[in-house]
Amino acid sequence: MHILVLGAGVIGITSAWYLRQAGHTVIVVDRQPQAAMETSFANGGQISVSHAGPWASPQAPAIGLRTLFEKNAPIRFSPTVNHRQWRWMSAFLRECTPGRTRRNTRSLAALAVSSHAELQSLRRQLALEYDQAACGILHLFTERKELDRAQARAHWLAPFGIRLDACTPEQCAAIEPALANSRRPLIGGLYAPNDEVGDAHRFTQALARACVDAGVQFHYETTADALDLHEGAVRGVAVRDARGVRGLLRADQVVCSLGTHSRMLVEQHGPRPALYPIKGYSLTLPAGAGAPRVSLTDEENRIVLSRLGDRLRVAGMAELGGMTVTVEADRVDLLKRLVREWLPDIGDFDQAEAWSGLRPCTPGNVPLIGPSRLRGLWYNTGHGSLGWTLACGSARLLSELMAGRDAAIDFPALTGRRH
Ligand SMILES: Cc1cc2nc3c(=O)[nH]c(=O)nc-3n(C[C@H](O)[C@H](O)[C@H](O)COP(=O)(O)OP(=O)(O)OC[C@H]3O[C@@H](n4cnc5c(N)ncnc54)[C@H](O)[C@@H]3O)c2cc1C
Repeated sequence: MHILVLGAGVIGITSAWYLRQAGHTVIVVDRQPQAAMETSFANGGQISVSHAGPWASPQAPAIGLRTLFEKNAPIRFSPTVNHRQWRWMSAFLRECTPGRTRRNTRSLAALAVSSHAELQSLRRQLALEYDQAACGILHLFTERKELDRAQARAHWLAPFGIRLDACTPEQCAAIEPALANSRRPLIGGLYAPNDEVGDAHRFTQALARACVDAGVQFHYETTADALDLHEGAVRGVAVRDARGVRGLLRADQVVCSLGTHSRMLVEQHGPRPALYPIKGYSLTLPAGAGAPRVSLTDEENRIVLSRLGDRLRVAGMAELGGMTVTVEADRVDLLKRLVREWLPDIGDFDQAEAWSGLRPCTPGNVPLIGPSRLRGLWYNTGHGSLGWTLACGSARLLSELMAGRDAAIDFPALTGRRH
């Protein structure tokens, strides 16, 4: 088949790789001059299989409500008049029941475990270098009820082979000595020894080069404006290059992996995938002597720290309320302050590069993978806070589904009826 993959983020490039390996002719289209220049550019770097869970949970509505009145909260909900935001919010609230939380956790866990195995085998096969380290992730807690909830989630994850070892504060400091001077009242942790870190941007660019070698064609600096439909079936995409010259790219099948922008492309043709951006920030600085070796997650403030070679990546913040990627100084300052409370000797923030990106989120955090309700259009999008973790498994699943095979894992792939 002749397949057009829209989007050269980590999801689009992994899709292109697996589809090419399945024998298809693949063309990738992206508006940027290179791969992984938007949300996949500077994320938290964690392959966090142990964090395979949705943000929608029975506790989420109370957390959201609290942040309405806290200007300086790491999680921020800014209500707008946009009807899409309200529709997405009401769908999010429906995902917050205990039953749906458990179901979404299981779906994400199945995909995350398969994705981790795919990533490891791809890394070996192609000798990919992307500042990866199999250092494990230590989840840190300062509140008893949060730790209890995370331990309950660990029980759901255990049947998938996902290890999370309970640790006392002393054991946490032994696993990561950089925590010794922490000013936060640590009460305990959960250590996931099998989790990894790596630079998603470097990985995606390396895999994009491997795609070129394997015969995938790329159209960079090319914007996908609309789908080309004939008798209800998608048969290509109307595009525009950097000079504004318009054209049409034909294909037997089109894969939509435009991250947060997926919705804009398809909704002009009818489908309304439940996707909404949740903005986050990161800082990348030289890893000094006080930088941790193990990747850390501050569960209550949703902040992660990952050492990527000789750099340290700090990422976090969750803001629901718009499509801009403006880096706001007060949010960067808050991120720095929260990180310094954990690691006072972390290094020189003056040299930090600040970045912000939009997580393409579905209400239940479960990505949309499979056929859309437009014939010829497939989704691999909506990976929210876990796109790097889930990328290789999602791409493998997409290529199986496009070959007409059933999913090999227990995951609610799309059926072409709803979205
Ligand atoms: C602060 C932060 C921290 C994170 N930390 C982690 C983490 O530690 N671990 C983890 O697993 N995940 C993490 N994530 C999530 C992860 O980064 C995303 O889920 C993932 O990058 C999404 O990839 P994508 O390919 O879907 O989107 P993108 O990378 O945004 O790719 C979409 C592509 O589509 C292109 N595009 C858009 N519109 C058009 C158009 N009309 N025409 C042509 N091209 C277009 C864009 O240029 C872009 O290249 C984090 C996200 C953020 C924001």
